[in-house]
Amino acid sequence: MTSILNADLHCHSVVSDGTLTPEELAQRASANGVELWALTDHDEIGGQARAAAAAKACGMRYLTGVEISVTFLHQTVHIVGLGFDPDNAALAAGLQQTRGGRRERALDMAKDLERVGIQGAFEGALTYAGNPNLISRTHFARYLVETGVCKETAEVFRKYLTEGKPGYVEHRWATLKDAVTWITGAGGMAVVAHPARYKFTANEEFALFTEFKGHGGQGVEVVTGSHTAAEYLSYAAVAKDYGLAASRGSDFHSPLDSHTELGTLPYLSGTLTPVWELLSARIQ
Ligand code: AMP
Ligand code: MN
Ligand code: MN
Ligand code: MN
Repeated sequence: MTSILNADLHCHSVVSDGTLTPEELAQRASANGVELWALTDHDEIGGQARAAAAAKACGMRYLTGVEISVTFLHQTVHIVGLGFDPDNAALAAGLQQTRGGRRERALDMAKDLERVGIQGAFEGALTYAGNPNLISRTHFARYLVETGVCKETAEVFRKYLTEGKPGYVEHRWATLKDAVTWITGAGGMAVVAHPARYKFTANEEFALFTEFKGHGGQGVEVVTGSHTAAEYLSYAAVAKDYGLAASRGSDFHSPLDSHTELGTLPYLSGTLTPVWELLSARIQ
């Protein structure tokens, strides 16, 4: 397969912090011309069987997917896993362990929001969580928009829930080594998600990519809804410099608050090795 393929290998359903079901996402992706799709819910693979079946029904090829939260040098980094065996026990156990702290964190976030006069945020956020085990900042953001505290989710993240702001609670996620090992141990490929989003210095970013490769990571998102066109170019160069395969994905969450629609990003440059070239044996 060439790089000229409408592959969308990053999006979220109600199983994590998206608002559409796996079936609705499959139909939407297919209607937008997606040829190869992956559902990559945060820290959770409970939607994989439904997504694979829905992709087949729509005539799309499918790769299993997940987006794992990792703590690296005091920041949260996301590692996408693609093409793993969804029945792998170590992967399931690792994901369950990393999901474990979310409820307690959410209770602490709500307590901190009470400090600034916002009541009932935990219960409010929970009503937006399709999966109560995966309560996330996105669900708090939807609640704060719905109750009129903010106009849109971007404003919530600017004023609340981020470092130094009310509602932010420091959290320790999986290690980089664990996340990469869970994915590769299950036969999949680990991919650094939206690298331009992190606030690393050049030295820290070098550490991220060298350690990631050292643990067996093989890919990096180049064309993503989280990057600008200039960042497509800078991370295409990073992919080449580190010898990583390149991925493409919208990071679509919801028709209401996602700025990038499924399957509508530019193609990967033909000078890159697409992740799907290395994953051909894992495509369903
Ligand atoms: P959590 O895993 O609970 O920390 O929530 C992280 C999620 O919040 C991400 O996956 C995004 O969906 C969402 N998010 C983070 N930052 C922003 C932002 N600035 N604007 C909108 N959504 C954001
Ligand atoms: Mn999300
Ligand atoms: Mn992410
Ligand atoms: Mn994502």
